[in-house]
Amino acid sequence: MTSDPSNAANPRLPCPQCGAAITLADDQPFRSCEHCSATLFLDLGHFVLHAYVAPRLDVRSAPGALQRFLKSAEITAPVSEVRAELVYLPFAVFARYEGTGSVLLTLLGGRSLPFDARAFSGALEPYDRAKARGTILEPELTLEEGRTLAGAAPEDQGRLVHVPFHQIRYSCAGRSYRAVLSALDGSGHAEVLPPASTASLDRSYAAWAAAATLVFLLEAAALPSASVAMAMMAPTILFFWWFLAGVQRANR
Ligand SMILES: [Zn+2]
Repeated sequence: MTSDPSNAANPRLPCPQCGAAITLADDQPFRSCEHCSATLFLDLGHFVLHAYVAPRLDVRSAPGALQRFLKSAEITAPVSEVRAELVYLPFAVFARYEGTGSVLLTLLGGRSLPFDARAFSGALEPYDRAKARGTILEPELTLEEGRTLAGAAPEDQGRLVHVPFHQIRYSCAGRSYRAVLSALDGSGHAEVLPPASTASLDRSYAAWAAAATLVFLLEAAALPSASVAMAMMAPTILFFWWFLAGVQRANR
């Protein structure tokens, strides 16, 4: 640290890029270096480089992306009241991860989100509050804590990267849910999902398939000859086909 003891009222910290001393005039955590223009974030007692990634998907595309995400989770029930907001989540990026495609660490304490570095490979830009429209979430953990979690070397200083997501609230079958979709590729994360509509359907099918098997076995055991049993199979199959079609209609 090069904080200047002769001027305790205005402590100074080094720029991680050029080493020039930067005066800490206020509590503003986002700064840029007057000497080299590096964009910086004031972490616990030192500056780290700060970058962001521009969103590739407009917030208006979020409802469509939500539908694709839910469909991939086999949720086909209609959703309503979809509200999407652009938020930038803070990630700790260490040199050992850059370009490897490894999972990066969010610096949100209770809401850690795995993220693939390849999604923004080569797209890092110096942070610019004017360009980064949306809510910027500040880290809840320090980069130091991130380094420990990542197992990065002490000399791997790391940097803070704000990555864009669409934070979505929506309703499904009278309940409200939240999902977070990447504003880079639309991939999704959700802590809780609505019940998969096909799961109940699958259970109904399983129950009726078991019943059908039982009826076949009883027919085979009770009927006097194989030819009578064979003759009974056709109406049995037709009955269950008709019944399952009804179950499927009721579940839609
Ligand atoms: Zn600098």
